[in-house]
Amino acid sequence: MRILMIAPPGAGKGTQGALIAAHFNIPHIATGELLRDHVARQTALGQAVQAYLDRGELVPDQIVLDMTREAIIAAKAAGGGYVLDGIPRNMEQARAAYEIGSELGMTADVALHLQADDAELTRRLLARAALEHRSDDTAEVIAQRLALYHEVTAPIIAWYRDRGILVSVDAMRSAPEVGREILADLEAMRPSLDHPPAQERLPLDMISLGEAFGATGSSR
Ligand code: AMP
Repeated sequence: MRILMIAPPGAGKGTQGALIAAHFNIPHIATGELLRDHVARQTALGQAVQAYLDRGELVPDQIVLDMTREAIIAAKAAGGGYVLDGIPRNMEQARAAYEIGSELGMTADVALHLQADDAELTRRLLARAALEHRSDDTAEVIAQRLALYHEVTAPIIAWYRDRGILVSVDAMRSAPEVGREILADLEAMRPSLDHPPAQERLPLDMISLGEAFGATGSSR
């Protein structure tokens, strides 16, 4: 099972990603967690990305793509499944993640979209701020992260819908309820993923992806 998650901040991708990973016994590759770990350890990379995280901006694409490639190579060696959490975040990353997946024979089977409205997301993130003290869970930075999600991440969803791998889940409910639905949906898909009929796997149209987002795209 190879899954990527597209979700606004606060929709629960960390929680649900961990649940999916445990259920299918696959690695949970969370770019935000990997970056925060570098910041906590004050590695050279951590020092380079800290200001982006603090401001709620995207770190440069190449940094997260290099991390993702390394993690997908490890996932391949570990059995071939993965759940990607936090990438892709923009059109360039969607395209590059597909290229990495193709090269390694590890493209995603499912794009899992968690849907929730901004008021609920803001409420959850402010509640989390009181518990976890993440540098990017302040009201101002939350607003910036949500705006960025709508501007550069959400448009990617249509591309996965066109490809026929999109699964959308209502994430306005409690985490256990959302988790139960995700696992039920993924379990229902499992037999067809194990033996995918070729005609059901639509080829990816890289050109239309480029056109949909403009020639150069944005790495913000
Ligand atoms: P997350 O834990 O997924 O909410 O990510 C936290 C922060 O890490 C984001 O606000 C970005 O600054 C950075 N980040 C995580 N994933 C990516 C990505 N794919 N591209 C760029 N920045 C990212």
